[in-house]
Amino acid sequence: MKFADIPGLSEIKSRLLDSVKQNHIAHAQLFLGKAGALNLPLALAYANYLHCQNKNGDDACGTCSACSKSLKYIHPDTSFVFPFRALRKEEDEDRVKAETLKLWRSSLIQNPYFSIADWITLYEGEDKQAAISREAGREIIKTLSLKPFESSYKVMIIWQPEFMHPSAANGILKILEEPPPNTFFFLVSNAAERLLPTILSRTQMVQVPQLPDEDLDTYLKEKYGVEDSRRQEILQLADGDLNAAIKLISSEEDHFQDRFADWMRSCYKRDYPKLVAFADDFHELDKLSQRNLFHYALGMMRETLLQHAGADAVGRIKSGEVKFVKDFSKIMNVSKIEKINRLVTDAHYHLERNGSAKMIFLDLSLNIAKSINP
Ligand SMILES: [Zn+2]
Repeated sequence: MKFADIPGLSEIKSRLLDSVKQNHIAHAQLFLGKAGALNLPLALAYANYLHCQNKNGDDACGTCSACSKSLKYIHPDTSFVFPFRALRKEEDEDRVKAETLKLWRSSLIQNPYFSIADWITLYEGEDKQAAISREAGREIIKTLSLKPFESSYKVMIIWQPEFMHPSAANGILKILEEPPPNTFFFLVSNAAERLLPTILSRTQMVQVPQLPDEDLDTYLKEKYGVEDSRRQEILQLADGDLNAAIKLISSEEDHFQDRFADWMRSCYKRDYPKLVAFADDFHELDKLSQRNLFHYALGMMRETLLQHAGADAVGRIKSGEVKFVKDFSKIMNVSKIEKINRLVTDAHYHLERNGSAKMIFLDLSLNIAKSINP
């Protein structure tokens, strides 16, 4: 990954570039961003730039031997640590590790914007098992005890350090504070609040905001050639999350607007047979569309809240939805909106954990009915 491959974020990029030019690179940096922010791509591009033998002012050259390895994520002086499942007793540890690293590299090449949930799906694991093991902590220290092979630097990228086993996290505190010369830690996290304070205090934070809609829009247009009207829908659903936006490109076009309005009307009227039929329909949708309907619902709650605050002009709303939001906001108040937000967020959580889509949706509908028309 080169800096040029990453849309937007020019301010952060130039700060990182300056740190190298001025030879003032913090030895432990925490790239922090919400889900869908480009903190991992930035760390990858930064590592690539450090190793490049022919850097120009703004980016790695992309063609030297170091770059050709970095672009395939096989540079011997960049190491990766990431969450994985626990190994089973009968498994050959070295083989599983080699295969996992291969999967990791090919995933980065295909789409470096994936989330932890995507990664767990890729290696066919389960949520609750994902962790950076105690053993991985020991390996970090071992890897960094060796001198760089080809570059002047060694880079250790720890993706999702919030998944570190406490003993792994404690085990690396010393080396994180005082790494060997020319060794850099890039921690890439979505949840600083889940990191040990002792880890936080030893890193310099690089806050990576989500992409603004303009940058996301340009990227979808230039990189994927997505049409204007579809881009508008995607931007609204993705809410700044590039990973979600890319998934939406390949998902079927959904007509959430009508479906959602109809759903809310049925909740309001407490039309139970219709809500049951809705739950059946929902069950038939693929996972992505189910998730997108919930995202859409949250987006519409946001718009309704803005409407209440008299700030409708700043929303992402499409012209066809204006009437619905105006009507809907008449029967809603702030506490109802908050309640529904929470209900949808909870339903989304259960859906991600593979609960029955039909039951989740029906339960959600009944609760919404109770909230908006008590
Ligand atoms: Zn190069």
